[in-house]
Amino acid sequence: MKVLVPVKRVIDYNVKVRVKADETGVELANVKMSMNPFDEISIEEAIRLKEAGTVEEVVAVSIGVQQCQETIRTALAMGADRGIHVLHDGDLEPLVVAKILKVLADKEGPSIIIVGKQAIDDDSNQTGQMLAALLGWGQATFVSKIDIDGENIKATREVDGGLETLTVKIPAVLTTDLRLNEPRYASLPNIMKAKKKPIEQVTPEDLGVDPSNRLQVLKVSEPPTREAGVKVSDVGELVDKLRNTAKVI
Ligand code: AMP
Repeated sequence: MKVLVPVKRVIDYNVKVRVKADETGVELANVKMSMNPFDEISIEEAIRLKEAGTVEEVVAVSIGVQQCQETIRTALAMGADRGIHVLHDGDLEPLVVAKILKVLADKEGPSIIIVGKQAIDDDSNQTGQMLAALLGWGQATFVSKIDIDGENIKATREVDGGLETLTVKIPAVLTTDLRLNEPRYASLPNIMKAKKKPIEQVTPEDLGVDPSNRLQVLKVSEPPTREAGVKVSDVGELVDKLRNTAKVI
């Protein structure tokens, strides 16, 4: 069984994101970029399935600029077997990503595609769902636990106020939630080994997908700055401010 794992290159989650002066997007120059945290969880889960003997091959796919190869190398250093880089210089919306992944899935024939539940840059939370629809496969989204039993995957999902357990037939698309696992750090020997693992490079056009967007970003702006707080001297003053200034009681 083969697993395909899309890995997106995004601004590192520790970086304080700055909006460009012209409000057309966020500053990317000289900013640390890393693998989307949910995709690290997907890679970790795929590798664990391989270590358990359920899966034979883990293929990492990244779509975007040339530097996405670094993201794929990280996946290879964690334990993925090979990479596919779909080279595209420019913004990509989830539907285009899903169409590209659909063509790769048709070509590669994976049994499972493990997608992050959302990319922390656009927060779209759309790609996995669109991919499952394009493929006509079942999907289990926001999974926090999976068990593979023959042709079925038993998946526990995080839903509002609790957990839902369902089964989905293979082939299937899964999207990963934070609590599925804790991704490993790549060891130095594995980082060295990853340099020799193959990465195939193609373009959306090679795959017959038009990468142009249907969505247009009109404006990106900073959230409003919080007003300074007020210190109250006693409970009476607090109640007075809540009643007469904030008017919430
Ligand atoms: P989104 O729907 O944009 O929130 O992204 C959800 C997931 O889709 C991510 O966690 C990735 O697994 C995958 N994905 C989105 N964009 C890309 C990309 N450019 N390259 C690889 N995977 C992607």
